[in-house]
Amino acid sequence: MRPVIIAANWKMHTTPADAGELATTLAARTAIEGVERVICPPFVCLAAVRDALAATPAGAGVGVGAQNVHHELSGAYTGEIGAPMLVGLATWVIVGHSERRRDAGETDELIGRKLGRALEAGLRPILCVGEQLAEREAGRAEAVVASQLRGSLAGFGGEPGALAEAGLVIAYEPVWAIGTGRTARGVDAAAMAEAIRSATGELGQGFAALADDLPVLYGGSVTAASAGEFLAEPAIDGALVGGASLKVEEMAGIVARAGLTAAGRRAAGVA
Ligand code: PEP
Repeated sequence: MRPVIIAANWKMHTTPADAGELATTLAARTAIEGVERVICPPFVCLAAVRDALAATPAGAGVGVGAQNVHHELSGAYTGEIGAPMLVGLATWVIVGHSERRRDAGETDELIGRKLGRALEAGLRPILCVGEQLAEREAGRAEAVVASQLRGSLAGFGGEPGALAEAGLVIAYEPVWAIGTGRTARGVDAAAMAEAIRSATGELGQGFAALADDLPVLYGGSVTAASAGEFLAEPAIDGALVGGASLKVEEMAGIVARAGLTAAGRRAAGVA
């Protein structure tokens, strides 16, 4: 009974002056039955996106997410954003994006703590995992991702049931595919999605139930043209879209393809 989810990561693009209009245009062009949509703008655009979506019927059902959250609730952390600050602005949050692992040195342990703060604030987390190209070429992709899951989900420190209750989503994003125009093969991404569920289920007591229904998205240079390769795979439950999520026609195509997946699942009685 896994949902089909398309999440837009706007990264460091848009301003409070233009984000609302892009959000409402995207919302109007992507209203497809059975597809959960989420827009993750920069922090400073969260209020504009929230308000713009609330002001139009097309905005109903589009979630708003932050791209990051601090691992502490509050304190002397200049320039950071704590989970309680996001309450009322966002209902989702991305944690562990590879650009933050790369640029901010985020470790699995730290990412686990972010998960904890997100859950305490009632935010639905999208946890990103993925291997480097050298790791894939060395045949270590599954081991690397399993280790990321172990590090962050163990670092989370709470009950696996709380992750399930919060609706934890995993985004499998091979680092070499992010922003490069190069995608993974659908079959490889699907194998990784299955490996992610298996590795999660093996984390210990309580994780098996979480793993069964764990939504796994693919991310990495997804476009309207490439979305079908991933969304045709039963193991993959949607996409985390970066660059293409700023382009209305691309998103319309991606969500339309996700709608076919959702309809197929409905017809088969699995969603
Ligand atoms: C991302 O930011 O998570 C992402 C997958 O980016 P892109 O689609 O641009 O590769």
